[in-house]
Amino acid sequence: MPKNHYDYIIIGNGLAGLQLALAFNNDSHFTNKRIALIDPSTKTSNDKTWSFWEQNTGLWEDIIHQKWSKATIFASNKTIDLKLNPYSYKTIRAIDFYSHALAILKQNKNITFITETVNSVTDDSIITVNTNKNSYTANHVFDSRIANDALSRLDQYTTITQHFKGWIIKTNTDAFDPDTITMMDYRLKDGDQTTFNYVLPFTKREALVEFTYFTEHTVEEHVYDSYIKKYIKDFLKIEDYQIIETEMGQIPMTNFPFEQSNTKNITKIGTAGGWVKGSTGYSFKLTEKKVATIIANIKANSTPSTDLFTAKYKFYDKIFLKVLKDENHKGEWIFEKFYSKNSIQTMFRFLDEDSSFKEELQIMTSLFSWSFIKAFIKTL
Ligand SMILES: Cc1cc2nc3c(=O)[nH]c(=O)nc-3n(C[C@H](O)[C@H](O)[C@H](O)COP(=O)(O)OP(=O)(O)OC[C@H]3O[C@@H](n4cnc5c(N)ncnc54)[C@H](O)[C@@H]3O)c2cc1C
Repeated sequence: MPKNHYDYIIIGNGLAGLQLALAFNNDSHFTNKRIALIDPSTKTSNDKTWSFWEQNTGLWEDIIHQKWSKATIFASNKTIDLKLNPYSYKTIRAIDFYSHALAILKQNKNITFITETVNSVTDDSIITVNTNKNSYTANHVFDSRIANDALSRLDQYTTITQHFKGWIIKTNTDAFDPDTITMMDYRLKDGDQTTFNYVLPFTKREALVEFTYFTEHTVEEHVYDSYIKKYIKDFLKIEDYQIIETEMGQIPMTNFPFEQSNTKNITKIGTAGGWVKGSTGYSFKLTEKKVATIIANIKANSTPSTDLFTAKYKFYDKIFLKVLKDENHKGEWIFEKFYSKNSIQTMFRFLDEDSSFKEELQIMTSLFSWSFIKAFIKTL
Protein backbone atom coordinates (compact mmCIF):
# COMPACT_ATOMS: atom_id res chain seq x y z
CA MET A 1 0.00 0.00 0.00
CA PRO A 2 1.47 3.44 -0.90
CA LYS A 3 2.70 5.40 2.12
CA ASN A 4 0.16 8.18 1.65
CA HIS A 5 -2.81 5.87 1.22
CA TYR A 6 -5.25 5.18 4.10
CA ASP A 7 -8.38 3.12 4.47
CA TYR A 8 -10.08 6.10 6.10
CA ILE A 9 -9.13 9.74 6.28
CA ILE A 10 -10.94 11.86 8.87
CA ILE A 11 -10.74 15.58 8.21
CA GLY A 12 -11.06 17.49 11.48
CA ASN A 13 -10.06 16.45 15.00
CA GLY A 14 -13.14 18.04 16.55
CA LEU A 15 -16.08 16.45 18.28
CA ALA A 16 -17.26 14.35 15.34
CA GLY A 17 -13.81 13.41 14.02
CA LEU A 18 -12.50 12.25 17.39
CA GLN A 19 -15.68 10.39 18.36
CA LEU A 20 -15.51 8.57 15.03
CA ALA A 21 -11.80 7.78 15.41
CA LEU A 22 -12.43 6.42 18.93
CA ALA A 23 -15.19 4.19 17.58
CA PHE A 24 -12.82 2.82 14.91
CA ASN A 25 -10.17 2.30 17.57
CA ASN A 26 -12.57 0.45 19.88
CA ASP A 27 -13.91 -1.99 17.29
CA SER A 28 -11.82 -5.03 16.36
CA HIS A 29 -13.30 -4.98 12.85
CA PHE A 30 -11.01 -1.99 12.16
CA THR A 31 -7.86 -3.28 13.87
CA ASN A 32 -5.87 -3.51 10.64
CA LYS A 33 -7.29 -0.42 8.97
CA ARG A 34 -4.97 2.52 8.39
CA ILE A 35 -6.61 5.74 9.52
CA ALA A 36 -5.37 9.33 9.21
CA LEU A 37 -6.76 12.35 11.02
CA ILE A 38 -5.91 15.67 9.40
CA ASP A 39 -6.36 18.96 11.25
CA PRO A 40 -4.18 22.10 11.48
CA SER A 41 -5.04 22.29 15.18
CA THR A 42 -3.31 20.05 17.72
CA LYS A 43 -6.17 20.63 20.17
CA THR A 44 -4.23 21.93 23.13
CA SER A 45 -6.64 24.60 24.34
CA ASN A 46 -10.17 24.61 25.73
CA ASP A 47 -12.29 26.11 22.96
CA LYS A 48 -15.73 25.21 24.35
CA THR A 49 -17.82 23.34 26.90
CA TRP A 50 -20.19 20.61 25.73
CA SER A 51 -23.32 19.87 27.73
CA PHE A 52 -25.86 17.13 27.17
CA TRP A 53 -28.30 14.92 29.07
CA GLU A 54 -28.12 11.16 29.43
CA GLN A 55 -29.30 8.34 31.64
CA ASN A 56 -26.97 6.45 33.96
CA THR A 57 -23.28 6.36 33.14
CA GLY A 58 -22.21 7.04 29.57
CA LEU A 59 -19.12 6.74 27.42
CA TRP A 60 -17.43 9.84 28.83
CA GLU A 61 -17.83 9.36 32.60
CA ASP A 62 -14.07 9.72 33.25
CA ILE A 63 -13.98 13.23 31.81
CA ILE A 64 -17.29 14.66 32.98
CA HIS A 65 -16.50 18.07 34.48
CA GLN A 66 -19.80 18.33 36.37
CA LYS A 67 -23.26 16.80 36.38
CA TRP A 68 -26.60 17.97 37.75
CA SER A 69 -29.85 16.30 38.76
CA LYS A 70 -32.14 19.36 38.74
CA ALA A 71 -32.97 22.19 36.33
CA THR A 72 -35.04 25.36 36.58
CA ILE A 73 -36.77 27.27 33.80
CA PHE A 74 -37.79 30.83 34.64
CA ALA A 75 -40.51 32.26 32.42
CA SER A 76 -41.54 35.88 33.06
CA ASN A 77 -44.47 34.79 35.28
CA LYS A 78 -43.72 31.21 36.16
CA THR A 79 -40.91 29.06 37.55
CA ILE A 80 -40.65 25.43 36.46
CA ASP A 81 -38.54 23.13 38.64
CA LEU A 82 -37.53 19.91 36.95
CA LYS A 83 -36.14 16.79 38.57
CA LEU A 84 -34.09 15.28 35.77
CA ASN A 85 -34.00 11.73 37.18
CA PRO A 86 -33.46 9.21 35.49
CA TYR A 87 -31.37 11.65 33.41
CA SER A 88 -28.49 13.87 34.46
CA TYR A 89 -27.34 17.00 32.70
CA LYS A 90 -23.58 16.70 32.16
CA THR A 91 -20.78 18.97 31.02
CA ILE A 92 -17.42 18.15 29.44
CA ARG A 93 -14.71 20.71 28.87
CA ALA A 94 -13.51 20.35 25.27
CA ILE A 95 -9.86 20.22 26.34
CA ASP A 96 -10.57 17.19 28.55
CA PHE A 97 -12.31 15.47 25.63
CA TYR A 98 -9.43 16.24 23.22
CA SER A 99 -6.75 15.10 25.72
CA HIS A 100 -8.69 11.91 26.53
CA ALA A 101 -9.24 11.03 22.85
CA LEU A 102 -5.69 11.88 21.75
CA ALA A 103 -4.13 9.87 24.60
CA ILE A 104 -6.07 6.77 23.48
CA LEU A 105 -5.71 7.22 19.73
CA LYS A 106 -1.96 7.93 19.82
CA GLN A 107 -1.35 4.44 21.22
CA ASN A 108 -2.75 2.91 18.04
CA LYS A 109 0.06 2.44 15.50
CA ASN A 110 -2.45 2.35 12.63
CA ILE A 111 -3.71 5.84 13.41
CA THR A 112 -1.71 8.78 12.08
CA PHE A 113 -2.18 12.44 13.04
CA ILE A 114 -1.31 14.91 10.30
CA THR A 115 -1.10 18.58 11.28
CA GLU A 116 -2.06 20.18 7.96
CA THR A 117 -4.97 22.12 6.47
CA VAL A 118 -7.14 20.38 3.90
CA ASN A 119 -7.74 22.52 0.84
CA SER A 120 -9.75 20.14 -1.33
CA VAL A 121 -11.03 16.61 -1.72
CA THR A 122 -11.51 15.06 -5.15
CA ASP A 123 -13.83 12.11 -5.59
CA ASP A 124 -12.62 10.13 -8.61
CA SER A 125 -11.98 6.38 -8.73
CA ILE A 126 -9.78 6.98 -5.71
CA ILE A 127 -10.37 9.83 -3.31
CA THR A 128 -7.60 12.38 -2.98
CA VAL A 129 -7.26 14.78 -0.08
CA ASN A 130 -5.09 17.79 -0.89
CA THR A 131 -3.62 19.75 2.00
CA ASN A 132 -1.43 22.84 2.16
CA LYS A 133 1.60 20.49 2.11
CA ASN A 134 0.76 17.08 0.61
CA SER A 135 -1.74 14.84 -1.09
CA TYR A 136 -3.21 11.69 0.46
CA THR A 137 -5.55 9.05 -0.90
CA ALA A 138 -8.19 6.99 0.88
CA ASN A 139 -10.92 4.45 0.34
CA HIS A 140 -13.33 6.69 2.24
CA VAL A 141 -13.12 10.24 3.57
CA PHE A 142 -15.06 11.62 6.57
CA ASP A 143 -15.07 15.38 6.26
CA SER A 144 -15.96 17.87 9.01
CA ARG A 145 -15.24 21.02 6.97
CA ILE A 146 -18.36 23.14 6.46
CA ALA A 147 -18.54 23.87 2.73
CA ASN A 148 -18.54 27.58 1.83
CA ASP A 149 -21.32 26.77 -0.57
CA ALA A 150 -23.46 25.49 2.33
CA LEU A 151 -22.79 28.64 4.38
CA SER A 152 -23.81 30.91 1.52
CA ARG A 153 -27.05 29.00 0.95
CA LEU A 154 -28.20 28.67 4.58
CA ASP A 155 -30.59 31.61 4.24
CA GLN A 156 -32.47 29.82 1.45
CA TYR A 157 -33.66 27.38 4.14
CA THR A 158 -35.41 27.79 7.47
CA THR A 159 -32.38 29.00 9.39
CA ILE A 160 -31.79 30.91 12.58
CA THR A 161 -28.60 31.17 14.61
CA GLN A 162 -28.03 30.17 18.19
CA HIS A 163 -25.43 32.70 19.30
CA PHE A 164 -24.16 33.34 22.77
CA LYS A 165 -21.46 34.56 25.07
CA GLY A 166 -20.74 33.19 28.54
CA TRP A 167 -18.58 34.23 31.45
CA ILE A 168 -17.26 31.77 34.00
CA ILE A 169 -17.35 33.76 37.21
CA LYS A 170 -15.90 33.15 40.64
CA THR A 171 -17.42 34.68 43.77
CA ASN A 172 -15.93 35.24 47.24
CA THR A 173 -18.98 33.92 49.08
CA ASP A 174 -21.38 31.04 48.33
CA ALA A 175 -23.75 32.13 45.56
CA PHE A 176 -24.86 29.05 43.60
CA ASP A 177 -26.69 25.76 44.15
CA PRO A 178 -24.25 23.29 42.55
CA ASP A 179 -27.03 20.72 42.02
CA THR A 180 -29.35 22.87 39.88
CA ILE A 181 -28.79 24.41 36.46
CA THR A 182 -30.80 27.28 35.04
CA MET A 183 -31.75 25.81 31.67
CA MET A 184 -33.47 28.99 30.48
CA ASP A 185 -34.25 32.25 32.25
CA TYR A 186 -36.55 34.55 30.29
CA ARG A 187 -36.89 37.21 32.98
CA LEU A 188 -34.19 39.27 31.23
CA LYS A 189 -34.57 39.44 27.45
CA ASP A 190 -33.34 41.53 24.54
CA GLY A 191 -36.64 43.08 23.43
CA ASP A 192 -39.20 40.45 22.51
CA GLN A 193 -36.76 38.21 20.64
CA THR A 194 -36.06 34.63 21.79
CA THR A 195 -33.21 35.30 24.20
CA PHE A 196 -32.48 33.80 27.59
CA ASN A 197 -29.90 33.35 30.30
CA TYR A 198 -28.31 29.97 31.04
CA VAL A 199 -26.40 29.15 34.23
CA LEU A 200 -24.22 26.11 34.94
CA PRO A 201 -23.04 26.22 38.57
CA PHE A 202 -19.80 24.25 38.90
CA THR A 203 -19.42 24.87 42.65
CA LYS A 204 -21.08 27.09 45.24
CA ARG A 205 -18.69 29.83 44.13
CA GLU A 206 -18.13 29.22 40.42
CA ALA A 207 -20.56 29.19 37.48
CA LEU A 208 -20.90 29.70 33.74
CA VAL A 209 -23.40 32.49 33.10
CA GLU A 210 -24.41 32.79 29.46
CA PHE A 211 -26.71 35.04 27.41
CA THR A 212 -28.14 33.23 24.39
CA TYR A 213 -30.10 34.28 21.30
CA PHE A 214 -32.13 32.07 18.95
CA THR A 215 -32.49 34.73 16.25
CA GLU A 216 -31.81 35.42 12.59
CA HIS A 217 -29.14 38.04 13.19
CA THR A 218 -26.15 38.13 15.51
CA VAL A 219 -25.21 41.05 17.79
CA GLU A 220 -21.98 42.79 18.73
CA GLU A 221 -20.00 41.32 21.60
CA HIS A 222 -20.69 44.20 24.02
CA VAL A 223 -24.43 43.43 23.82
CA TYR A 224 -23.98 39.95 25.34
CA ASP A 225 -21.65 41.44 27.94
CA SER A 226 -24.18 44.03 29.04
CA TYR A 227 -26.94 41.42 29.48
CA ILE A 228 -24.67 39.02 31.40
CA LYS A 229 -23.59 41.85 33.68
CA LYS A 230 -27.17 42.96 34.32
CA TYR A 231 -28.32 39.38 34.93
CA ILE A 232 -25.58 38.74 37.48
CA LYS A 233 -26.43 41.96 39.33
CA ASP A 234 -30.24 42.02 39.13
CA PHE A 235 -31.20 38.33 39.11
CA LEU A 236 -28.31 36.42 40.68
CA LYS A 237 -27.84 39.36 43.11
CA ILE A 238 -24.06 39.04 42.97
CA GLU A 239 -22.00 42.23 43.29
CA ASP A 240 -18.52 40.91 43.86
CA TYR A 241 -17.03 38.45 41.36
CA GLN A 242 -14.15 37.81 38.97
CA ILE A 243 -14.48 36.65 35.35
CA ILE A 244 -12.07 33.73 35.01
CA GLU A 245 -12.92 32.53 31.47
CA THR A 246 -15.21 33.48 28.59
CA GLU A 247 -16.86 31.46 25.82
CA MET A 248 -18.54 32.71 22.67
CA GLY A 249 -20.17 30.75 19.90
CA GLN A 250 -22.56 30.54 16.98
CA ILE A 251 -24.42 27.39 16.03
CA PRO A 252 -26.60 27.19 12.92
CA MET A 253 -30.15 25.99 13.63
CA THR A 254 -31.34 25.00 10.18
CA ASN A 255 -33.06 22.47 7.98
CA PHE A 256 -30.32 22.86 5.34
CA PRO A 257 -29.91 19.44 3.65
CA PHE A 258 -26.25 18.90 4.62
CA GLU A 259 -26.72 15.17 4.00
CA GLN A 260 -27.08 15.75 0.26
CA SER A 261 -23.30 16.25 0.05
CA ASN A 262 -22.68 12.66 1.17
CA THR A 263 -21.52 10.28 -1.55
CA LYS A 264 -20.50 6.65 -1.64
CA ASN A 265 -16.91 7.69 -0.90
CA ILE A 266 -17.25 10.86 1.17
CA THR A 267 -19.32 11.36 4.31
CA LYS A 268 -19.71 14.82 5.78
CA ILE A 269 -19.62 14.60 9.56
CA GLY A 270 -20.42 16.88 12.53
CA THR A 271 -21.92 20.30 11.89
CA ALA A 272 -20.92 19.95 8.22
CA GLY A 273 -22.96 16.75 8.00
CA GLY A 274 -26.08 18.19 9.64
CA TRP A 275 -25.44 16.42 12.94
CA VAL A 276 -26.37 19.48 15.02
CA LYS A 277 -30.06 19.18 15.81
CA GLY A 278 -31.90 21.97 13.98
CA SER A 279 -34.30 22.76 16.80
CA THR A 280 -31.83 22.76 19.72
CA GLY A 281 -28.25 23.32 18.53
CA TYR A 282 -27.16 20.27 20.57
CA SER A 283 -25.01 17.63 18.88
CA PHE A 284 -22.83 15.88 21.47
CA LYS A 285 -25.11 12.87 22.07
CA LEU A 286 -26.45 12.77 18.50
CA THR A 287 -22.84 12.45 17.35
CA GLU A 288 -22.55 9.20 19.33
CA LYS A 289 -25.59 7.83 17.51
CA LYS A 290 -24.45 8.89 14.04
CA VAL A 291 -21.01 7.39 14.67
CA ALA A 292 -22.61 4.09 15.75
CA THR A 293 -24.71 4.07 12.56
CA ILE A 294 -21.64 4.71 10.39
CA ILE A 295 -19.72 1.89 12.05
CA ALA A 296 -22.67 -0.50 11.62
CA ASN A 297 -23.05 0.52 7.94
CA ILE A 298 -19.38 -0.08 7.16
CA LYS A 299 -19.48 -3.48 8.86
CA ALA A 300 -22.57 -4.35 6.80
CA ASN A 301 -20.82 -3.23 3.58
CA SER A 302 -23.32 -0.39 3.13
CA THR A 303 -22.52 3.21 2.22
CA PRO A 304 -21.46 4.79 5.55
CA SER A 305 -24.08 7.55 5.41
CA THR A 306 -27.05 5.17 4.94
CA ASP A 307 -29.98 5.96 7.29
CA LEU A 308 -28.15 8.65 9.24
CA PHE A 309 -31.36 10.71 9.45
CA THR A 310 -35.01 10.03 10.24
CA ALA A 311 -37.40 12.04 8.07
CA LYS A 312 -40.01 12.61 10.80
CA TYR A 313 -37.54 14.37 13.13
CA LYS A 314 -36.35 16.58 10.30
CA PHE A 315 -40.00 17.47 9.73
CA TYR A 316 -40.60 18.30 13.42
CA ASP A 317 -37.40 20.37 13.53
CA LYS A 318 -38.48 22.30 10.46
CA ILE A 319 -41.88 23.17 11.93
CA PHE A 320 -40.27 24.31 15.16
CA LEU A 321 -37.67 26.40 13.31
CA LYS A 322 -40.39 27.95 11.15
CA VAL A 323 -42.33 29.12 14.20
CA LEU A 324 -39.19 30.53 15.80
CA LYS A 325 -38.13 32.26 12.61
CA ASP A 326 -41.55 33.69 11.66
CA GLU A 327 -42.65 34.53 15.22
CA ASN A 328 -39.42 34.96 17.15
CA HIS A 329 -41.22 36.57 20.11
CA LYS A 330 -42.94 33.19 20.77
CA GLY A 331 -39.79 31.46 22.10
CA GLU A 332 -40.59 31.98 25.77
CA TRP A 333 -44.17 30.73 25.28
CA ILE A 334 -42.98 27.62 23.38
CA PHE A 335 -40.36 26.58 25.90
CA GLU A 336 -42.60 27.32 28.88
CA LYS A 337 -45.29 25.01 27.44
CA PHE A 338 -42.74 22.40 26.39
CA TYR A 339 -41.09 22.17 29.82
CA SER A 340 -44.24 22.52 31.94
CA LYS A 341 -46.56 20.13 30.12
CA ASN A 342 -44.34 17.12 29.39
CA SER A 343 -42.44 14.65 31.51
CA ILE A 344 -38.64 14.64 31.47
CA GLN A 345 -38.60 11.25 29.72
CA THR A 346 -40.99 12.43 27.00
CA MET A 347 -39.03 15.62 26.36
CA PHE A 348 -35.57 14.11 26.35
CA ARG A 349 -36.60 11.05 24.32
CA PHE A 350 -38.19 13.42 21.76
CA LEU A 351 -35.08 15.61 21.58
CA ASP A 352 -32.86 12.51 21.41
CA GLU A 353 -34.95 11.30 18.44
CA ASP A 354 -35.94 8.13 20.32
CA SER A 355 -39.61 8.95 20.96
CA SER A 356 -42.68 6.86 20.26
CA PHE A 357 -45.58 8.26 18.22
CA LYS A 358 -47.59 8.55 21.47
CA GLU A 359 -44.85 10.75 22.97
CA GLU A 360 -44.68 12.88 19.82
CA LEU A 361 -48.45 13.37 20.00
CA GLN A 362 -48.08 14.42 23.62
CA ILE A 363 -45.44 17.04 22.64
CA MET A 364 -47.61 18.30 19.77
CA THR A 365 -50.61 18.62 22.06
CA SER A 366 -48.56 20.62 24.56
CA LEU A 367 -47.59 23.11 21.84
CA PHE A 368 -50.95 23.14 20.05
CA SER A 369 -51.56 26.68 18.79
CA TRP A 370 -52.30 28.68 15.66
CA SER A 371 -48.54 29.35 15.24
CA PHE A 372 -47.75 25.65 15.01
CA ILE A 373 -50.76 24.92 12.78
CA LYS A 374 -49.61 27.64 10.33
CA ALA A 375 -46.02 26.38 10.38
CA PHE A 376 -47.23 22.79 9.92
CA ILE A 377 -49.27 23.73 6.86
CA LYS A 378 -46.42 25.80 5.35
CA THR A 379 -43.95 22.97 5.99
CA LEU A 380 -46.20 20.43 4.28
C1 LIG B 1 -18.99 27.48 21.58
C2 LIG B 1 -19.86 26.28 21.25
C3 LIG B 1 -20.47 25.59 22.31
C4 LIG B 1 -21.25 24.46 22.02
N1 LIG B 1 -21.85 23.81 23.05
C5 LIG B 1 -22.54 22.68 22.81
C6 LIG B 1 -23.12 21.95 23.88
O1 LIG B 1 -23.05 22.37 25.05
N2 LIG B 1 -23.74 20.78 23.61
C7 LIG B 1 -23.87 20.29 22.33
O2 LIG B 1 -24.42 19.20 22.14
N3 LIG B 1 -23.39 21.01 21.29
C8 LIG B 1 -22.73 22.18 21.49
N4 LIG B 1 -22.20 22.88 20.43
C9 LIG B 1 -22.54 22.43 19.06
C10 LIG B 1 -21.62 21.32 18.55
O3 LIG B 1 -21.65 20.21 19.43
C11 LIG B 1 -20.18 21.75 18.38
O4 LIG B 1 -20.09 22.79 17.46
C12 LIG B 1 -19.27 20.60 17.92
O5 LIG B 1 -17.95 20.97 18.19
C13 LIG B 1 -19.45 20.25 16.45
O6 LIG B 1 -18.56 19.21 16.13
P1 LIG B 1 -17.75 19.18 14.78
O7 LIG B 1 -16.84 18.01 14.85
O8 LIG B 1 -18.65 19.33 13.63
O9 LIG B 1 -16.90 20.54 14.78
P2 LIG B 1 -15.62 20.93 15.60
O10 LIG B 1 -15.64 20.31 16.94
O11 LIG B 1 -15.54 22.42 15.51
O12 LIG B 1 -14.42 20.29 14.77
C14 LIG B 1 -14.12 20.64 13.45
C15 LIG B 1 -12.62 20.42 13.25
O13 LIG B 1 -12.32 20.58 11.87
C16 LIG B 1 -11.08 21.23 11.77
N5 LIG B 1 -10.98 21.85 10.45
C17 LIG B 1 -11.66 22.90 9.98
N6 LIG B 1 -11.24 23.20 8.73
C18 LIG B 1 -10.29 22.29 8.40
C19 LIG B 1 -9.50 22.07 7.26
N7 LIG B 1 -9.60 22.85 6.16
N8 LIG B 1 -8.62 21.04 7.26
C20 LIG B 1 -8.53 20.21 8.35
N9 LIG B 1 -9.26 20.39 9.47
C21 LIG B 1 -10.12 21.42 9.49
C22 LIG B 1 -11.09 22.25 12.90
O14 LIG B 1 -9.78 22.66 13.27
C23 LIG B 1 -11.77 21.43 14.00
O15 LIG B 1 -10.84 20.78 14.83
C24 LIG B 1 -21.44 24.03 20.67
C25 LIG B 1 -20.85 24.76 19.65
C26 LIG B 1 -20.09 25.88 19.93
C27 LIG B 1 -19.49 26.63 18.77
